[in-house]
Amino acid sequence: MTIPGQLSPAPRLLLGPGPSDAHPRVLSAMTTPLLGHLDPQFLEMMNETQQMLRSVFQTTNALTFPVSATGTAGMETCLVNLIEPGDPVVVCTMGYFGNRMVDIAGRCGAKLTVKEAPWGQTFDLQQLRETLSTVRPKVLAIVHAETSTGALQDVSQLGKLCHEFGALLVTDCVTSLGCSPVKLDEWEVDAAFSCSQKGLSCPPGMAPVSFSPRATDALKARKSKVQSWYLDLTSIMSYWGGDRAYHHTAPISMVYALREGLRLVLEEGLEARFARHVRNHVALKAGLEALGLTYTAAPHCQLPQLNAVRIPDGIDDLACRKRMLTEFGIEIGGGLGDFKGKAWRIGIMGHNSRPACVLQVLAAMEVVLAGAGAKITLGAGVAAAERAYAA
Ligand SMILES: *Cc1c(COP(=O)(O)O)cnc(C)c1O
Repeated sequence: MTIPGQLSPAPRLLLGPGPSDAHPRVLSAMTTPLLGHLDPQFLEMMNETQQMLRSVFQTTNALTFPVSATGTAGMETCLVNLIEPGDPVVVCTMGYFGNRMVDIAGRCGAKLTVKEAPWGQTFDLQQLRETLSTVRPKVLAIVHAETSTGALQDVSQLGKLCHEFGALLVTDCVTSLGCSPVKLDEWEVDAAFSCSQKGLSCPPGMAPVSFSPRATDALKARKSKVQSWYLDLTSIMSYWGGDRAYHHTAPISMVYALREGLRLVLEEGLEARFARHVRNHVALKAGLEALGLTYTAAPHCQLPQLNAVRIPDGIDDLACRKRMLTEFGIEIGGGLGDFKGKAWRIGIMGHNSRPACVLQVLAAMEVVLAGAGAKITLGAGVAAAERAYAA
């Protein structure tokens, strides 16, 4: 065979639903020489990473650590550890990732009740109170930031409500952590999971999870073994918990990455970081709307970090995204599920939530949309964003 050439991909700006660009400091941390996964220096880094994760999740939960895999493994960790066959479970779905939880909970043997909201909408507490009181589930699972629609579900009062009915609240924070407030303790969330490649500006490969004492008790009270060996928290915790016993070989360089990503979040400060995401969203939104694009999520629940807009009639989805990528080096996302071919998803997450990214994506979209025959005024998007920044 001929040996493939050395890697040299054309540079990209990753403004889709993830992965987002890793921060340069994260990439450089990843080139740190390897340590053994039981080296005392590495164990100290694990402690530091867990401590920083607690700060970012705004929790004191002892059981807080990153699963060695992507966000979906975090989802699966929360569900397989808390659900036993026959357990009544409610999954609330308002998009693609809610449906993924439905599938996983079903595979765990849950007695499943699926609550659906239209794509682009969110649930109100009253609806969920009724479901909780009739179903009396062991677990209610919901997506905090639905990346397929760009909608933010308010979960701030939901933990209390679940606890009124003896249910545990599981929350998908994959797209919210590091971009929007996530307050596990104040919101009484029992199990939450996230990923490394969206708001935390790392490569994909780690899934932070956190279990409340209530969820930990439910885990200890299980009658059956967790069906997954790799994701069974009762054994992973002998590595990430107290005694650091071998479970699997931690992906050392990814822990370096996550540690650096978390340092960046805490150096900036949570509130400053959330405000930055809102500021850049307001400018991007002004620009997109000046180009005649409308959001798929209802106005009261639009995510700052994930801007999903409808593709105008008569505009070719694939041709436009291809031109964005090849001519401008910018990746944006297409639609998933119900929104396939109908929506574009622009992520300005973590390190990529900054004016340079907002103005670049708007300038490129103007050119691409005009080229595709959309009736827009060239320059209108960038000008509207610039006015929003100046205001
Ligand atoms: C990206 C995403 C996931 C899946 O994470 P992977 O890292 O792709 O496995 C799950 N839930 C939501 C809301 C997401 O945006």
